[in-house]
Amino acid sequence: MAFITSGAAAVSGASLTARRAFTGAAVCPVPAGPAAPTAATWSMSAGGLRTFLVGGNWKCNLSKDAITSLCKELAAAPDLETDKVEVVLAPPTPYLDHTRSVLRQDFEVAAQNIWVGGPGAFTGETVAEMIKDVGCTWVILGHSERRNLPQIRETDDFIAQKTKTALSHGLKVMFCIGETLQEREEGRTLDVCVRQLHALVETIEAGDWKDVVIAYEPVWAIGTGKVATPDQVEEVHEKIRHYLAKDVNEKVAQETRILYGGSVSPGNCNELAQLPDVDGFLVGGASLKASFLEVIESFKSDLAATV
Ligand code: PEP
Repeated sequence: MAFITSGAAAVSGASLTARRAFTGAAVCPVPAGPAAPTAATWSMSAGGLRTFLVGGNWKCNLSKDAITSLCKELAAAPDLETDKVEVVLAPPTPYLDHTRSVLRQDFEVAAQNIWVGGPGAFTGETVAEMIKDVGCTWVILGHSERRNLPQIRETDDFIAQKTKTALSHGLKVMFCIGETLQEREEGRTLDVCVRQLHALVETIEAGDWKDVVIAYEPVWAIGTGKVATPDQVEEVHEKIRHYLAKDVNEKVAQETRILYGGSVSPGNCNELAQLPDVDGFLVGGASLKASFLEVIESFKSDLAATV
């Protein structure tokens, strides 16, 4: 099935080299408002200003022993140059402490959820203080499984409030957004992403964005093996950046990292990493294996594409 719904300009290897000329397609028009900088302006900071970041979301998988084994395998790779690439792994909540103790120190650890308030009578919840207490520095919020699973159904506002709570405790946030297949086919991709982001824009201050990373994860590409095409990815990322320029400010638009997530693997990461507005990945299934190291290595493709 073809998922692209527009006549987007093809992004060939040659056009990736000439990245400043890539303007994306018009499948999701940017809402009217003050003029945002041109695509050429955005591209200049790709791979330089925004340090590449690779997140691994283990979701509700692995055991304590399996985590120990995987962390041993991940330790085999050389030290990270953290000015070039950051790595953050998100184990299930019961294993946060264990993961932090067995994982190499140059990888950070994220929780996959957080309670919206402080400690108290909130059975089953985990507060920011606890996440920090076990050495974690990040939290993933707004993941499509928490937005869309009928048993969970977190709203835009609730996710924004949780993000504010996390940030106020000094945790960094991977804020996930993305459209369902139906929404894409109805031409509502940007509307949905903007609606999800707008709730956050309304809730946090401009200065908070330095600790927020956006993960654009089309729901139809998550766990399906159907990775979005490079022009689908770049088109949405570029337009998210324009939206930030319009509704927050140009500095935030330039400096906020936008990750792509959705069936990223060692086989497709290098091509996607070269896209001017892709600043890293949020990886599910492929982060459960030692070959995740190959996805981390794709930061070199990002750097090589930055002229
Ligand atoms: C995810 O869960 O955030 C994700 C992108 O999963 P996958 O890589 O398996 O598609």
